[in-house]
Amino acid sequence: MLLGAIADDLTGATDLALTLSREGMKTVQVVGAPPEDFDFSAADAVVVALKSRTIIADEAVRLSLDAARRLIAGGAEQIIFKYCSTFDSTPEGNIGPVAEALVDMLGEKLTLACPAFPANGRTVYRGHLFVGDLLLSDSTMKDHPLTPMRDANLVRVLQQQTKLQVGLVTRDAVAKGAAAVREAFDAAIGKGDRIVIVDAIADQDLREIGHAAADMKLITGGSGIALGLPENFRRAGKLAPVEATRSFSAPAGDAIILAGSCSAATRRQIKTAIDAGTAAIKLDPLEIAAGKTSAETVIDWVAAQTEGIPMVYSSADPEEVRQAQQALGREKAGEIVEHLLANVAIGLRDRGYRRFLVAGGETSGAVVQGLGVEAMLIGPEIDPGVPWTVSLEGDRSVALALKSGNFGRDDFFLKAWRVAR
Ligand code: ADP
Repeated sequence: MLLGAIADDLTGATDLALTLSREGMKTVQVVGAPPEDFDFSAADAVVVALKSRTIIADEAVRLSLDAARRLIAGGAEQIIFKYCSTFDSTPEGNIGPVAEALVDMLGEKLTLACPAFPANGRTVYRGHLFVGDLLLSDSTMKDHPLTPMRDANLVRVLQQQTKLQVGLVTRDAVAKGAAAVREAFDAAIGKGDRIVIVDAIADQDLREIGHAAADMKLITGGSGIALGLPENFRRAGKLAPVEATRSFSAPAGDAIILAGSCSAATRRQIKTAIDAGTAAIKLDPLEIAAGKTSAETVIDWVAAQTEGIPMVYSSADPEEVRQAQQALGREKAGEIVEHLLANVAIGLRDRGYRRFLVAGGETSGAVVQGLGVEAMLIGPEIDPGVPWTVSLEGDRSVALALKSGNFGRDDFFLKAWRVAR
């Protein structure tokens, strides 16, 4: 293991894991700090998903330090602290406090902070963060319910969150390339800076910054900051060529589609799959509540299908969802379905099913928890943002594609299986 990362939320962790995987690192994503006996040897990079973006700063620091210690003990030579590309934080943190604690723990003179993600319209220029054509403070982020961002000047924003001196490396240096960025880092250290915001307006900028930061033990930023880091390890002879890391193999066994997302994209994907002949059973929360549908009845139905890959779905249009919620309560309706789909997944795994395509963020969480999956190796991307993964549990290992509701094109449920081959 070469590179360890700590992400302050789950989808952010997947985003970073995918970036590292695309750049040719065998990447494992772990939910929460890896357990003491975790086997790091399967990965070049390990991304720990925390849920620390909006918790109390002290707790975010404690969790992040704990994760960093495990990653370093596992072999990590460099740590990434990953946060949102819109710098989601409050005047109390948690970006400043966590970065400060990590840079102190690692005994580093300087770290950098760069949330730029040009592919998604997040760019940093003269220390100011843009979302598309708008300053962060003019974007919808100004009204975010938990982390309203009312100042686009990241030097000022970050300085408010930390007692470390915050400086700036502008695009003037970044445009000249890695050597100029390294000089700018030295100049910043000379001025007493401990964290520098670094401008980046294009992927090539991020690659130059990554190259310049080869010797930094701590790097902080959005997922884009990881673009240039794998190449550093490759240059140092520590990482195999990109092609050699593409060794994804899905465990052999039957396959199933489980959909609990009611979002428009998922409903289109369900329709496309049914139109193409996919055998499907629709779950009704009211029938589950009445005991007419159970995990056993669903598993029996699945086991009786002989053609293709069957689909179990509860996805319904807004009017049906409203009726179920009215009868059962909003939370109860959701829980009942999540619980049933998780139990179906457990039952099918016990019957030898090894490939699960799950639609829905909360639904995926319930299935992953039900199956007891703690760590997943990132595999090939099916559609942007959704990779196949393989859980790391020896003979109980399963292939999982976890799709958040609105992701994926209409033929996602059909195409995913071709990618897993
Ligand atoms: P998404 O990623 O699209 O937001 P989620 O799985 O996160 O999907 O959320 C969908 C929620 O809706 C889950 O809690 C799920 O159990 C619930 N749900 C699924 N089907 C129904 C239904 N027919 N009626 C009411 N709630 C439902």
